[in-house]
Amino acid sequence: MIIDFHNHIGKGGRTDEPVKHPQTMFNPDELLFKQFGKDIIEKMDAAGIEKSVTFPFGRSKDGTFRKENDLIFDTCDEHPRLLAFCRLNPKNKGVGELKRCIKKGALGIKLHPRTQAFGLDDPRLYNILHIAEEERMPVLIHSEYIPSEERLRGDVSFTTPVKFIPLARQFPKLKLIVGHLGRHEDRTREKLRNIPNVYFETSTAVHADILIAAAAYGPERILFGSDSPFSHPSVERMKIDILPLDKDEKELILGGNARRLLNL
Ligand SMILES: [Zn+2]
Repeated sequence: MIIDFHNHIGKGGRTDEPVKHPQTMFNPDELLFKQFGKDIIEKMDAAGIEKSVTFPFGRSKDGTFRKENDLIFDTCDEHPRLLAFCRLNPKNKGVGELKRCIKKGALGIKLHPRTQAFGLDDPRLYNILHIAEEERMPVLIHSEYIPSEERLRGDVSFTTPVKFIPLARQFPKLKLIVGHLGRHEDRTREKLRNIPNVYFETSTAVHADILIAAAAYGPERILFGSDSPFSHPSVERMKIDILPLDKDEKELILGGNARRLLNL
């Protein structure tokens, strides 16, 4: 079973004015910041994906993601191939919203430190992770693949894989997932190798880096994701399909590991 571990549902949007394509006046935001149930099912069919993990975009109307999470639950009720994760803002009723989402059947949690401007050392994040560990909910945290200006500014919310290490040690039973594979310095890789509860999700990473991560951590710690609508599941899947790995190893990455983490 092929499972895509990273998809957004709802409506996002930039804070600045979208740039329209000068000839067509096509607004790229129409492609990138909007995806509903039927859109994602179409893409899954095109890419041969059976189930997809879904969660809200980065924007929340009231800052708690309550309304946006409810759209996820409604969409997943309508389309049983979609699996619900909740998105939380640790700085705004994070624990309360998590408890509400657990009752509604959330299977996991998505967090984005830069969008909600919190650091991985924030005590309010620890409260959320404590519950996630008890409830056996995997937690997918956005990580940076491409070096960005935030890195240069030393922004605390800039999350490289090295910042996952203290969290993984504090919560050894928690399944922590580094979104977009993250940027791995050699020293980081050495440390992360021995921390078995950290996993790596592949969306928007370069295919060669997926192969390096599979070799360094073992294919059982790599999870296929597309980050749709920001990328297309067919494109992201091809990056795994072309790798010189065994069939069994690819099966783990493309769905076996997700199945194990989500108890499907
Ligand atoms: Zn994403």
